[in-house]
Amino acid sequence: MPERRKLIAGNWKMNGLHAAGLELATDLSKRLAAAGTVGFDMLVCPPATLIHPVAQAVAGTPLAVGGQDCHVKPSGAHTGDISAAMLVDAGCAFVIVGHSERRQNHGEDDALVAAKAAAAHAAGLIAIICVGETLEQREAGQALDVVASQVAGSIPSRADAANTVIAYEPVWAIGTGKTATSADVAEVHAHVRATLAGRIGDPDAVRILYGGSVKPSNAAELMAVDHVDGALVGGASLIADDFWGIAETC
Ligand code: PEP
Repeated sequence: MPERRKLIAGNWKMNGLHAAGLELATDLSKRLAAAGTVGFDMLVCPPATLIHPVAQAVAGTPLAVGGQDCHVKPSGAHTGDISAAMLVDAGCAFVIVGHSERRQNHGEDDALVAAKAAAAHAAGLIAIICVGETLEQREAGQALDVVASQVAGSIPSRADAANTVIAYEPVWAIGTGKTATSADVAEVHAHVRATLAGRIGDPDAVRILYGGSVKPSNAAELMAVDHVDGALVGGASLIADDFWGIAETC
């Protein structure tokens, strides 16, 4: 069984002005430096306006920087969009694609998510591909099928464990304070792992993150679940003590 180093990723969403964003990222990078050897990788995904200043502020430290979305094309007439090459140019190593807020608010489907992940790979980024069922789908007993179908449809060709991370984020748990039970998380993560076989290079080495109201008080239990290889954190990633507290459970 390959060693999978945990990844603690913060999705700042549409939050953070310049001073506060820099302060948060600098605080985290200092904590990482002071901690020395840690058992996790740490990533922050600021809004597009802050990617470059944050990347500059934490350059040379282990804190990685990512984007929250990218376009499928490297450049062109796409007002308001940002390309994977631009994210790399601004200092990113990662990009989130297929977040449920993109799928719901921007009508993104699996094929588009796969194309975005392929664009990320072509630019040299690691794609964090998000999947997750709605409450209605869970209550209808469809969670495993929905998530497996999203995983299968959202992974592009030439994806492997080095360039791809999967994030399981039940939609009903995002920003709601509701967290999936350990048993539910274990069931879905094992199913995602099984779904990866034959669809991605080195499937056992692919990191599968859990996301959905992760906080310091529930992180230890969630991070101990089989096939949970880290967390994608929204709200709690905006508070240095909370984000660091989550990481420290790894
Ligand atoms: C997210 O948006 O990816 C997320 C998991 O948010 P929160 O932690 O706030 O539920």
